[in-house]
Amino acid sequence: MNLCSRVCRILYRTSIFYKVNNYNTIKNVKDVDIEKIRNMGILAHIDAGKTTTTERMLYFAGIIDQMGEVHHGNTVTDYMDQERERGITITSAAVTFNWKKNLINLIDTPGHIDFTMEVEQTLNVLDGAVVVLDGSAGVEAQTQTVWRQADRYNIPRIIFVNKMDRLDADIKMCCEAIKNKLEKPYLLLQLPVRENGKLTGIIDVLSMELLNYGAVNEKQVTKTPLTEDQCPKYWSEAKNARMILIDKLTDHCDELADTVISSESLENIATVDIVKALNAITYNQKAVPVLLGSAYKNIGIQALMDAVVLYLPSPVVKNDRYTCFESSLCAGAFKVVHDKQRGSLVFIRIYNGTLNKGQKIYSIQQDCSEQIGRLYVAYADEFTEVDSVKNGNIAVVAGLKKIRSGDLITSTQSAYQKAKRNITQSLNERSGEIDAEKILGVGVTIPEPVFFCSIEPPSLAAQASLEQALTELQREDPSLRVTYNSETGQTVLAGMGELHLEIIRDRILKEYKIEADLGPLQIAYRESPIKKLTDTSTLETKIGNSKQSVTVTLSLLPTEQKEDIGNVMKLDKSPEAASNIASIFPKHLLAVKQGIETGLAHGPKIGSQVINTYVMLHNLEVGRGTSETMVTATVTQVVQKLVKNSGTDILEPVMFLEVVAPEEYLSVVLADLSRRRSVIKDVTMRGKSKAVLADTPLSELLGYATVLRTLTSGMATFTMEFNQYKKMSPIDEDNAIRSVRGF
Ligand code: GDP
Ligand code: MG
Repeated sequence: MNLCSRVCRILYRTSIFYKVNNYNTIKNVKDVDIEKIRNMGILAHIDAGKTTTTERMLYFAGIIDQMGEVHHGNTVTDYMDQERERGITITSAAVTFNWKKNLINLIDTPGHIDFTMEVEQTLNVLDGAVVVLDGSAGVEAQTQTVWRQADRYNIPRIIFVNKMDRLDADIKMCCEAIKNKLEKPYLLLQLPVRENGKLTGIIDVLSMELLNYGAVNEKQVTKTPLTEDQCPKYWSEAKNARMILIDKLTDHCDELADTVISSESLENIATVDIVKALNAITYNQKAVPVLLGSAYKNIGIQALMDAVVLYLPSPVVKNDRYTCFESSLCAGAFKVVHDKQRGSLVFIRIYNGTLNKGQKIYSIQQDCSEQIGRLYVAYADEFTEVDSVKNGNIAVVAGLKKIRSGDLITSTQSAYQKAKRNITQSLNERSGEIDAEKILGVGVTIPEPVFFCSIEPPSLAAQASLEQALTELQREDPSLRVTYNSETGQTVLAGMGELHLEIIRDRILKEYKIEADLGPLQIAYRESPIKKLTDTSTLETKIGNSKQSVTVTLSLLPTEQKEDIGNVMKLDKSPEAASNIASIFPKHLLAVKQGIETGLAHGPKIGSQVINTYVMLHNLEVGRGTSETMVTATVTQVVQKLVKNSGTDILEPVMFLEVVAPEEYLSVVLADLSRRRSVIKDVTMRGKSKAVLADTPLSELLGYATVLRTLTSGMATFTMEFNQYKKMSPIDEDNAIRSVRGF
C-alpha cells in the first residue's frame, strides 16, 4: 500500500480529523543525518502548558492542520481516554516531525508526580529538554522535581516561559525564580512586547528584531529589524538586554570572553559567536537560555523550535557512551503501549548500530532474546512502517512479549559481554564488571511505592485475564508492583499514589473490560530496628546422602541514614575476620545478600519492609556440597531473629507538600494542614497567591484533593512528592498498627 493511501486510511479511522501534509517527514526519518536529530522532552509542572506547546509545535511543523485544545479534549499527544477526560498527560507519547530540515523526536512526559517513573525512563533516552514554566506562577514545585531529575540524567535544557499573554505574567519574577529555586544562572534571549497590557510580540535579543505573530496569517511571523531611528524604545531595550546577555555569557565561555577582549567592546560581537557560546553553555549546563511566549496565543513557538535545534545537542553525545558495542546494536526501551490492532508496541531509542525489521534482539535486564516484528516511527498514536531505524533515532517495535520499559537492548548476549569487556578494559580495574553496568545504566532505580491495595477479579473465571492485564500493565509501567500475599491469598498492587492506582483500575475496566475490585488504599509503612545485635547460627540438614551445613555470624547495624535499600550488606573488614571473608566464594556472597534482603522484607511489627539498617557479615562457613539456597535460608533466619530481638519502630512516609491558594484562603488552609500533623516550612508569595510548603504525613493526605477543593471553592492547587520515612509518636504508631491490622 502506498504512503498516501495508508495515511488516508489512518485519517479515516481517527475520530479527530487531522490532515498530515508533510510527507517529507516520513521519508526523512530513516536516512536523516544524525547531527540534525533532536530527541527532546518537554518537562513542566502540571498545567504550565506542555500539551498546548506540543500541539502548537506539531501545528507549525505541518503535522496537523488544526490545533486541538486541552479543554476540548482533542490534542494529539493526550491520546488515552483517561487523559482526554481528565485533561492531563499520563503516557509519554513520542511524536516525530521536521523543523527546517531537522528531525525532532518530541517526547511528551507526564506531569503528575504519580508518574515520576515514566518521567525518569523518558529522561534516560533524551538528549535535551524544554522546561515549560507558567509565566504567572514561575518555578513551581513539580518543576523543581523534574529539574532535579533532569540533573541526575545530565540533560541539557532550555526554558520556555509560557502564558506570557496573562496579565499577571512576569518574566522578571520567572528569571529570579530560575536563579533562586533552580539555582541556575539564566540567559534571557527574548523580551515580551505589550501594548495596552496585551502581549503583541517578542523582541529577539540575538537578531535584534521585533517578532509579530498572526498579522498576515496564523503561521506567519513578521520580523522587523529594530533600529535606533524607527523604534528607539524597543531598540534600546533590546540593546541593553543584548549587552547583559553577552556579559553573562563571557562568565561561562572563555572563547567568547577572548573575542570580547580582542574586539574591546560588547557591541560588535557577532550573533554567530553568541549562538556558539549559548550552544556550549547549554550543553555544559552552566546556565540556561530562557525564551518566552504564549502557546495558547501561538506566540513564540517557532522561535522555540529554532532554539531547540540551535542549542540542544544532537544524539551523538549520548550515543558515544555506547560505542563499546562496536558494530552491534545498542538501544534503550523507554515505553510500552498496548495497541488494539498491533498488540504491544515498544518505544526504543537507538544508541548504536541499526535496528532492522525482523531482527533478533537481546534484553540485558530480562536476560532474554526476542524477535522483533514490524518496525514503525511514531506520530502520536499513529505509526508509519519502516524497514530500519538508525542510531540516534526513535523506533516503535511490534511483536515483543517480554521486553519492558527501561530495558537496555543489544543483538545477542555475547554482544553484551563483549561490550562489558571493552569497558572493563578501558577502565582497567578489577571492579570493572560493576562499573560497566553502572556506566551502561543497566539498573535504573525504580521509586519505592508509597501506596498499595488489594485487587480481586469479579469472578474466578476472570482471574486469568486479570493476571494477563496486570502483566501487560506492569510491562508498561515498572513503578506498578504486583505481588501475591500468601498469608491473605490476595493479589496486591503497589504504586506511587492514589491517582496512579485509580488510573490502573480505570484502564483494567476500560481497556480489558474486567470489573476488578480494588480494596481500600493503604500506606506503605516501613520498620526500623532499634538495637545493635550480633548472632551466630548453624543450620544442618541431610538431603539424600549429602550433608549440608552453614554457619554464619551476622550483626544488625541500625543507622540514622534515611533509606538505603540499595546496599544493605557490609563485610567485616577487621583483621580477625579478613581471612574468612576473603575466602568466601562470590556465589555464596550473592546468596548471603539475597538472604539478607529476604530477611528484611517483612518486619515483626506489621510485616512492612525493614529499612535504616545495615547487616554485617563477620563469618561464613559453608560445608562441602551445600547449596546456595541453604546459605540464603540460613541467613534469612538469622536476620529475622536479629530484627525481632532488636525490636522495631514503625516509620511513615512523609511528603513534601505545596499548596497554592489565594490569600483569603490562607488561614483555612493552614489550620487544616496543622490538623493533618503538618510541619509548615515556608509561606511565600506566588504571583497574587500564597504558596505554603509543608512536610505532611501521607496518611493524612488521603482524599486531600477533595477536601482542599471544598475548603477553597476550588481556588487552590497542591502537589506532593515523597520526602522521607519518619518515626511516629507512640499514639500515631498505635493508630497505624490498628489501621493495618484492621484490614
Ligand atoms: P500541561 O498540563 O502542562 O500539559 O498544560 P496544558 O497544555 O494542558 O495547559 C493547561 C491549561 O493552561 C489549559 O487550560 C490551557 O488551555 C492553558 N494554557 C496553555 N498555554 C497557555 C498560554 O500560553 N496562555 C494561557 N493564558 N493559557 C494557556
Ligand atoms: Mg498535558
